[in-house]
Amino acid sequence: MHNHSPVFYRDLNAVPPSIVRGEGSYLEDASGRRYLDASASAGVVGIGHGRSEIWDALAAAGDKVTFVYNATFTHPWQEELAGRILAMAPSNMAGVYFTSGGSEANESAWKLARQYFVERGKPQKYKAVARWLSYHGVTLATLSLSGRTSWREIYSPLLLPVARVAPPYEYRCRICGGGRCTLACADDLERTILMEGPETVAAFFAEPIVGTTAAGLTPNPGYYRRIREICDRYDVLFVADEVLCGYGRTGHPFAISGWDVAPDIVTLGKAIGSGYAPLGAMVVSEKIREVFAAGSGRFVHGLTYSGTPSACFVGNRVHEIMSREGLFTRGAEIGRYLEAGLRALADRHPAIGDIRGRGLLWGVEFVEDRETRRPFDPKVGFTAKIVSHMRVNGILVAAGIPGINHGQGGDHIQISPPFTISESEIDVLLDGLDEALKRYG
Ligand code: PLP
Repeated sequence: MHNHSPVFYRDLNAVPPSIVRGEGSYLEDASGRRYLDASASAGVVGIGHGRSEIWDALAAAGDKVTFVYNATFTHPWQEELAGRILAMAPSNMAGVYFTSGGSEANESAWKLARQYFVERGKPQKYKAVARWLSYHGVTLATLSLSGRTSWREIYSPLLLPVARVAPPYEYRCRICGGGRCTLACADDLERTILMEGPETVAAFFAEPIVGTTAAGLTPNPGYYRRIREICDRYDVLFVADEVLCGYGRTGHPFAISGWDVAPDIVTLGKAIGSGYAPLGAMVVSEKIREVFAAGSGRFVHGLTYSGTPSACFVGNRVHEIMSREGLFTRGAEIGRYLEAGLRALADRHPAIGDIRGRGLLWGVEFVEDRETRRPFDPKVGFTAKIVSHMRVNGILVAAGIPGINHGQGGDHIQISPPFTISESEIDVLLDGLDEALKRYG
């Protein structure tokens, strides 16, 4: 039976509960039910819910907030936020282009990479390479980049060809065969660039720590250095998609800093606006800026809402709160508490096969047999049972979809709470997961 809401919901058969209030790590729906939002609502709400000081500040600035079209004017809030982001970005970064979210940021990045090579007199370099078990967005170009098979299938006639390399999935590595990691998955990038023809490849896209498709995949310490070397060898730009894992989520302002590697472009979203404004960004390196400056001097691209004043205003207030409360790095410490709790659960529950992640971005993968790492049959719906049991008990975690890439990825949940989450709230989350695993594990 279809609902009669005026909203065209993603699932027409299930109108989600209406949330009327949020505070800290909690959401409250219209019936008064409270939920511990251990997913930070798709990893967005870094500073926590219900920060009324943001709305108070916006109201106080009401006489100054007006829309400015970025091709004609700039405004102080955009300049200020860009300066703040650059001040904490890898030192090779030199400019920020704002968007309304992550898909737009990644789409902009691919276009920028293509134009970069046109500016350099190499117009045949336009292709992007990406990884399996990756998510870069829903627009046709960013879905083309994404190795999220279940979301691609229906649109496959419309997608752009993107060569795809092995993900750094140590728990189910099909290249090193369960032995010691040899970085063969990174070398798969070199093989692929050579097969495509290095003269045609413009950019490699990767989430430094994988989110949605396989929650928490964290490559080993040498991985991104190897990726950087390969990109340099073949004159390919390295785009770090930090839409989910960036802006404090891993305990660093930029997740890639954890590997001490400088990408050419970093994309941001989610926590940068923390849900108080739709905001994303593409952070561009000096190397690219110089080529544009010496060339046409103009990025052939334009989003009406790039640098929207109200969104940048909110972005500045989010940045202030994050700086004041140490939230750009708090994830490192509180993340250790969360990790220890998850590992203790794994000792008790054989259905937990793998725990991976960093800071406040964790994936917990479930298996039917821990010894052989055999996943549950997708028909069992194990993750769905765990997630819905926790939800009934007022705890929200994100479900990874079993068999999401034809069996490449297992059943898993993603835990990505607000950066403000307390130890006692983490205890509530862990107890909830414990309880669900006792019931179904
Ligand atoms: N990139 C990553 C890593 C993401 O996790 C997401 C969203 O989940 C996106 C890009 C797309 O961002 P948006 O939904 O804001 O367009």
